[in-house]
Amino acid sequence: MAKKIKKPKEKTRKKPAPLEQKFVFVTGGVVSSIGKGLTAASLGALLEARGFKVSLMKCDPYINVDPGTMSPFQHGEVYVTEDGAETDLDLGHYERFTSGLVNRANSVSAGQIYESVISKERRGDYLGGTVQVIPHITDEIKSRIYEAAQGAEIIIVEIGGTVGDIESLPFIEAIRQMRVDLGIKNSLFVHVTFVPFIAAAGELKSKPTQHSVKELREVGIQPDILICRSERPISAEIKSKIGLFCSVRPENVISAKDAFSIYEVPIQLNSEGFDTRVVEHFELKSLLPNLEGWNKIVEILKNPKASVAIGIVGKYVDLHESYKSLNEAIVHGGIANNCRVKIEYINSEQLNSENAAKILGGVNGILVPGGFGERGSEGKLVAIEYARESGVPFFGICFGMQLAAVEFAQNVCGIADATSREFATTKNGKRNLIIDFMEEQKKISDKGATMRLGAYPCQLEPDSLAYAVYGERSISERHRHRYEFNNKYKALFEKKGMRATGICKERDLVEIIEIPDHPWFVGVQFHPEFKSRPLAPHPLFSNFVKASLNFDSKRAGPSKKMKKKIKRIGGDLLREST
Ligand code: GLN
Repeated sequence: MAKKIKKPKEKTRKKPAPLEQKFVFVTGGVVSSIGKGLTAASLGALLEARGFKVSLMKCDPYINVDPGTMSPFQHGEVYVTEDGAETDLDLGHYERFTSGLVNRANSVSAGQIYESVISKERRGDYLGGTVQVIPHITDEIKSRIYEAAQGAEIIIVEIGGTVGDIESLPFIEAIRQMRVDLGIKNSLFVHVTFVPFIAAAGELKSKPTQHSVKELREVGIQPDILICRSERPISAEIKSKIGLFCSVRPENVISAKDAFSIYEVPIQLNSEGFDTRVVEHFELKSLLPNLEGWNKIVEILKNPKASVAIGIVGKYVDLHESYKSLNEAIVHGGIANNCRVKIEYINSEQLNSENAAKILGGVNGILVPGGFGERGSEGKLVAIEYARESGVPFFGICFGMQLAAVEFAQNVCGIADATSREFATTKNGKRNLIIDFMEEQKKISDKGATMRLGAYPCQLEPDSLAYAVYGERSISERHRHRYEFNNKYKALFEKKGMRATGICKERDLVEIIEIPDHPWFVGVQFHPEFKSRPLAPHPLFSNFVKASLNFDSKRAGPSKKMKKKIKRIGGDLLREST
């Protein structure tokens, strides 16, 4: 009989030591807009695909305390987190590329840092000492980074701006100190640079990268990994040259050629060994990442089975960055339906009853996104009327939903002076306010303070399109708006064919409206685009794209009523479009 092998006793087995937190700092050089945010987000995706718990954070060097008040023209979209923080659009990339949620702590601006140090000084916290950039500002930055790192195994911190900017210096100094505090094995410097292709010379030039690294070294940081953005792949020869001049191992010089889609970036960086270099540096054991989901997405984006045109009718259409999350959510909707979505931006200021059929005639779906202010709203109302009358799938988001309610009141309920409080001046304040303040808001005059921000629960009516789309009765979505649907008009709307199918019960607020007689007409008071991910497309976007795919723009056209109206205004355009 074989001898029984004695099992080691349970207590002699050692528990694995808790993982020490690892910090990746991402800086940018040469020029802005080279995809620092996407690099950080893609690294997050890759490390998560290897099984690590990752968190991402953005440090913005601007002095604004509240990015919510910054113009979308200058700064792109304001991204709203679950806890109601109005943040930089890079935070949207973080959430789209990883499965975790970001919140207020994951976004910090120089303005917020200075504000908090100055208020501590006013309170006397520094006991009359001289308050300085080092150590007071840098300590505040460090404490914010540690706060955002809570609960994560690896935290990726993106420093906004370009190395060499005066504004970003305190942040750079703080991360320089953190390397000393944390040690080499727990901290990693990734520098994203640009390697231009000079057509006249037919060559990629590494000099700007060398200068940018020199600049970084002047402030005490030696990068460990260089991500070289370029039009063309960086050859092994150029990698060794960059490595030699920048004191970086050639295998740590990563080529990041312009990608076909942002969702290809994690795959590209993985094939260049980025995530492998990172785990090696941290001496972490991990399996190879599972990139099946990302590969599938890229496959669909490259070889879609169908194509659909969606018209976005808005005011900021020339600046696509202002609708970043929206664009991405529509792309995700396409991925869910294995189709390419061609987004057509339509400037609402140029849209009117005369040209509506011509301009909107070619799209399979119409979307009116969030927005502020009366300018351009007439054109949006025209687009909504066209969609409602002609049966084109319509999706109204936030301001788009509010205007859909106003349009319905004016043209279906016969309330000619129907409007929103947003446009109501003292002169027209007595008009029928379909969209209004909530009672409790009426007393608060400070504009910034009255916004409904962040996640709120919403209950769906059982026999609604919304319920069919979500597949559950209780949902939660993110908000960023000041005005609400006026419940005074709810019964009349219902009678005339527009239903409120999503309600925030706690406050009795209308969150979703629908026209059951229309093929697909949905308005939502919230911003579903903030919760859509390529690996988990938002159901409203998937369903809207699906409805648009089923809509044949060639067969449809303006309804009889619309035709009459167009004829009244200008028959020529109707003839042109039919
Ligand atoms: N301007 C509207 C409001 O403040 C809608 C805002 C939005 O679309 N985000 O209520």
